[in-house]
Amino acid sequence: MSVNYSNYRDIDIDSFDAVVVGSGFAGSVVAHELADRADMKVLVIEKRAHIAGNMYDEYDDAGILVHKYGPHIFHTTSQRVFNYLRRYVGWIGYQHHVLADWYGTYMPVPFNKNSMEIAFGEERAAHLIQKLVDTYGDERKVTINELRASNDEELSEIADFVYKNVFLYYTQKQWGQTPEEVDPSVTARVPVFISRDDRYFQDTYQGMPAFGYTDLFEKILGHDNITVCLDTDATGVFDLDFESDDEDAKLSAIKIHGKEFTGPIVYTGPLDELFIGRFGRLPYRSLDFVYETYDEEYKLPCGTVNYTVTEDYTRITEFKHLTGQKASNTTIMKEYSCAYEDPDRQIPYYAILNDENRAHYERYKALTESLPNFHLIGRLAEYKYYNMDKIVLNALELSSELVAEATGVSLLEASAGADGATGASEVV
Ligand code: FAD
Ligand code: UDP
Repeated sequence: MSVNYSNYRDIDIDSFDAVVVGSGFAGSVVAHELADRADMKVLVIEKRAHIAGNMYDEYDDAGILVHKYGPHIFHTTSQRVFNYLRRYVGWIGYQHHVLADWYGTYMPVPFNKNSMEIAFGEERAAHLIQKLVDTYGDERKVTINELRASNDEELSEIADFVYKNVFLYYTQKQWGQTPEEVDPSVTARVPVFISRDDRYFQDTYQGMPAFGYTDLFEKILGHDNITVCLDTDATGVFDLDFESDDEDAKLSAIKIHGKEFTGPIVYTGPLDELFIGRFGRLPYRSLDFVYETYDEEYKLPCGTVNYTVTEDYTRITEFKHLTGQKASNTTIMKEYSCAYEDPDRQIPYYAILNDENRAHYERYKALTESLPNFHLIGRLAEYKYYNMDKIVLNALELSSELVAEATGVSLLEASAGADGATGASEVV
């Protein structure tokens, strides 16, 4: 069925059992599970003018399907997550390839044996590859930090090259920080890969929803028990009560339409925004996207080209490679990273991970811990660098807890129910 949209002004809050803020993967999966497995009436509040969070895609004026908030490639090692998502739509297989533009020469990223040959020439590369294999093993992944920690002269030569030509400038553009300054988990996402495998990800399941992400979200949210209010900001809907007037006083209730809402409230937005930045804003990076359309079938040799040594944008993505769309024209998108300074105009895309920011986040989180019906989930609400699959997994787990609570079944039974696939469609 199609999504049941309503104007927030027309909502009778008494007819809902649960409220979900945000319609990305975190919010949409939880909303569906509560509606379907616990027969709860779920109100989804979304501040944007559309569903699907950062996964939202649409056809541009040139007729090309584009991702509005950055390129999204689905990949996971979790059969549970993939099985869950293919209940809703068919998927096309897609293996993402990324090339670094190294002063006009293309080099595979993650940096691998093929990149070594481009960087060092075949003969020298053969020797260095053997050194890597002898040290770390074949088909192994080594983070740039691990490689840089080596005392071996030749391994240091490789590390220096990769650091300077793949990580340094790209990371400075993306984060406004050097690779040493960013959390080690960030650069570890793209390790050196001692392999001939040129794919960006090696996960078992990789692909794209056959008719796009927005179509997938329409299926997830299209349920009799779900009502979605777009253009509705939770900060304008929630009336927060605190235990006292102290700055660190904990939440004691959330009122909606003047009355305490006692059913589950699932929040997937930025936590500092909910508390109107009372301890100062949490740091994020934002992005600007610039689209260009060409009357050519393809502009790039693969889905994404990373500009690791030149340009002021980080990467260019050509969507047709990702979506498999056939057309005589094409649209590409350049990504510019920037500081997140203006919540009215910008979107907080990436949490800036470090100990200080995590402590800052924990101070906000502590405000919510006294309210048992309030649940935080998602990339923003948890201040984490999660991929889509992990969000889906976390949402299934939270749903099982809430279903168990609402229906009185055990958590074990509720969790088993989450995997009970219905109407599974094949990968197309
Ligand atoms: P979101 O998708 O951000 O959804 C949150 C929703 O809450 C939004 O719709 C927002 O409008 C809404 N909201 C926020 N505050 C409020 C409020 N106060 N009131 C009402 N609504 C509110 N992951 C991958 O696995 N593969 C990729 O290739 C990939 N590429 C990415 C590229 C970029 C540029 C970025 C930034 C992320 C990428 N990700 C990728 C990560 C992916 O976007 C996240 O894992 C996913 O969006 C998390 O889903 P979510 O529901 O937590 O958050
Ligand atoms: N990175 C880099 N050069 C590259 C690719 C990645 O320096 O060519 C670093 C950079 O710091 C980036 C991080 O590795 O932010 C993680 O890259 P990923 O592609 O996972 O970023 P995302 O797609 O999440 O933006």
